[in-house]
Amino acid sequence: EREQGLRDAHVPALTADHVRVRVKANVASLAVARAGAGQGADGAGLVRTEAVFARWRQAPTVEQQVEVYAALAEVFDPHDVTIRTWDAGADKPLAFMPAEEGRNPFLGLRGLRAFVAQPALLLDQLEAICRVAVDHPLRVLFPMVSTADDVRTARSFLARAAARAGLPGPPEGLGVGIMVEVPAAALCVGTLAGGLDFVSVGSNDLAQYVLAAERGSPALAAWSDPLEPAVLQLVRHVADHVPPGVAVSFCGASASDPDLAGLLVGLGVDELSATASAVPMVKRALRAGSTWEYRELADRALAAPDAAAVRELVGPAVRGAA
Ligand code: PEP
Ligand code: MG
Repeated sequence: EREQGLRDAHVPALTADHVRVRVKANVASLAVARAGAGQGADGAGLVRTEAVFARWRQAPTVEQQVEVYAALAEVFDPHDVTIRTWDAGADKPLAFMPAEEGRNPFLGLRGLRAFVAQPALLLDQLEAICRVAVDHPLRVLFPMVSTADDVRTARSFLARAAARAGLPGPPEGLGVGIMVEVPAAALCVGTLAGGLDFVSVGSNDLAQYVLAAERGSPALAAWSDPLEPAVLQLVRHVADHVPPGVAVSFCGASASDPDLAGLLVGLGVDELSATASAVPMVKRALRAGSTWEYRELADRALAAPDAAAVRELVGPAVRGAA
């Protein structure tokens, strides 16, 4: 089966009723990007820039970032590349970004929040993104957005950065989106996402914040399962309430599990972003069923009592169809 999946890796993933679902790659370096493109990824759905520059002692200059983002765009050409702005803080320290002192770093000044009082690093990054977006298909993605004010802040930083790049405004072709990884953003997505091009659900953080259980903590694994119906209900809520024309991506770790691909599409997700090596099998899984079958599966999952029951539903459903 894996062999078949690899053979078809570069073929677009169409469901049985011919709906195209783009399966993109999560990227943490240029090497990972090349691996993703080699596995047939339809672009990069999440470039974790804090990972790309994790080993840098000093902040990269605008020029240095232009070079890196352009190289990533070339790897995935003609597909688009989604650059997430620095998601520093909590589990993602950056040597060139002073860490905040606090008892709850996951609830602290992480992601976009960290730059409101000291925007220099973010403005440099956005200037580089604007410059590369002039002649490459790029999307910019803001992490840890929770309020409408955050979206206004993000947009105003982007406008300032475009001006610094000598442009009249953000380049036409630059897609603008926000991570939906805080419950408040999921609940209010109908207003927050107005005028944006896409949102991207981050189930790693969304599950952590919905279930009040720190991500990655082995002791809390039983309480932080992204398949809990409470998390799935928020994903469906997002898909049902985004303003028309706003695409719903999904870039949490669940998107790398081929058993969950149909469920996510059934919840209303338009495109997935997975670990590079998982792309061929996620594509293969999507071909197995139709969107209405996935919809029914998702409806059953939403009504399930817990994550274990959801897991029982998806395993046989997808394997049975494959
Ligand atoms: C997420 O939170 O689900 C996500 C994709 O972002 P990260 O894992 O980088 O926090
Ligand atoms: Mg996150």
